[in-house]
Amino acid sequence: MTKEQEVAFDGLEVWFLTGSQGLYGEETLQQVAGQSQRVAAVLDDADAVPVRVVWKPVLTDAGGIRRIMGEANEDPACIGVITWMHTFSPAKMWISGLDALRKPLLHLHTQADAALPWATIDMDFMNLNQAAHGDREYGFMLTRLRTPRTTVAGHVGKPRVQARVGSWARAAAGAAAARGLRLARFGDNMRNVAVTEGDKVEAEIRFGMSVNTWGVNDLVEVVDTVGDAAVDAVVAEYGDLYDMDDDLRPGGARHDSVRYQARVEVALRSFLTDGGFGAFTTNFEDLGGLRQLPGLAVQRLMADGYGFGGEGDWKTSALLRVLKVAAAGLPGGTSFMEDYTYDLAADTPRILGAHMLEVCPTIAGERPRLEVHPLGIGGREDPARLVFSAAPAAGITVGWSDLGDRFRWVANEIDVVAPSEPLPNLPVARAVWEPRPDFETATEGWLTAGGPHHTVLSTQLGADELTDLAEVFGTELVLIDADTTRRSLAQELRWSAAYQRLAQRL
Ligand code: MN
Repeated sequence: MTKEQEVAFDGLEVWFLTGSQGLYGEETLQQVAGQSQRVAAVLDDADAVPVRVVWKPVLTDAGGIRRIMGEANEDPACIGVITWMHTFSPAKMWISGLDALRKPLLHLHTQADAALPWATIDMDFMNLNQAAHGDREYGFMLTRLRTPRTTVAGHVGKPRVQARVGSWARAAAGAAAARGLRLARFGDNMRNVAVTEGDKVEAEIRFGMSVNTWGVNDLVEVVDTVGDAAVDAVVAEYGDLYDMDDDLRPGGARHDSVRYQARVEVALRSFLTDGGFGAFTTNFEDLGGLRQLPGLAVQRLMADGYGFGGEGDWKTSALLRVLKVAAAGLPGGTSFMEDYTYDLAADTPRILGAHMLEVCPTIAGERPRLEVHPLGIGGREDPARLVFSAAPAAGITVGWSDLGDRFRWVANEIDVVAPSEPLPNLPVARAVWEPRPDFETATEGWLTAGGPHHTVLSTQLGADELTDLAEVFGTELVLIDADTTRRSLAQELRWSAAYQRLAQRL
């Protein structure tokens, strides 16, 4: 866990709203209140739910519902709302409040106690424990209103229910991060590259993120003001955390190359902090007065929770920031990634992913090694970078394309594996993975869906969080997983295209 990620969920909460009505009398409503507090407390205590779950008084009329939804909208600590119809809550009273709600919604379908006391059930029990039809009344209204939401059914004591509520809460935290995200682009898009382009205005409308460009020499000015003491401190940290040859250490012949990346790191950190930025991009074609392409510096900032995309790729950078927030505290890592080359001879073909420098050390399976090598492009000095192989784990890759009339996320469930053999001549960090359901179906599907070459690779998150995030934003998600077939995906893309067109505002 890294510095920024450690504090990602501090002060964040989801509100637990219980629906009922006045028909049952005060005594029943007190039982409803007691039981719903108990259910909320189970979720609040669950390790799988990373934010506080705050119980709110039982709702029995339209005015109260409208009021609490307005408060949820305005309270910056509240990242989402869980609703449960404990008894029967005539759903017309929810119309105004649901119409006003602007935050992620989870419809929890549960019951206070898991077991039915068959021998003692009377009509009082039946009237108290009637979420079975109370939630159907409410679910109808959500559907009638076309309200985006995640629906989770089952007793809250069950690990799978807690895990799904937790995944949704992580998606809600990611959505909140997107709404407040400021992204700094140093330079523009790589010349002539298509898939990294995109509609920044639409991104701000749909996701809330603010994406703007600064001249790279604005950063160079900060680099020039960094003092030696600040560089010394960062260099000392490198010595503690990474292996490296002696000539890269202080006093060594190539130490200056390392010092320069440390200087860029300090400057980038200061620029991003001062501007309130959570993500950034660079472009090797536009380095201004920078002596090296930022490599090590970018890797360490990613490890601290910043989003990053190479070649001006702001979409992947923003996605990385959002997914890092959603993933905070989970085992594994989340990184900028690029599909690079294939091993097609293996029984199970493998993808070797990397980038020219910028892979996040949170996915490392070993102590990273600090190295300095020439870079074939960009025409600058040899940049320092961390070299490692990613730790084996189940994970996902996610890419973000702009199809012109809409955004599309394409995701693939993968298994990161150890490299088939040592890679003594590859001077960059890398990940090797096997895509699900198999290489041919996954890559043919990815190409057919128009997925990009830049992705976010995460071994912390899975399909649940991505699905919930896509639902919150109303963004198309094409998920290629173990169940995908060539035929099912082709049909999904056709139907989805029709749906997305119909769902667009005129
Ligand atoms: Mn690239």
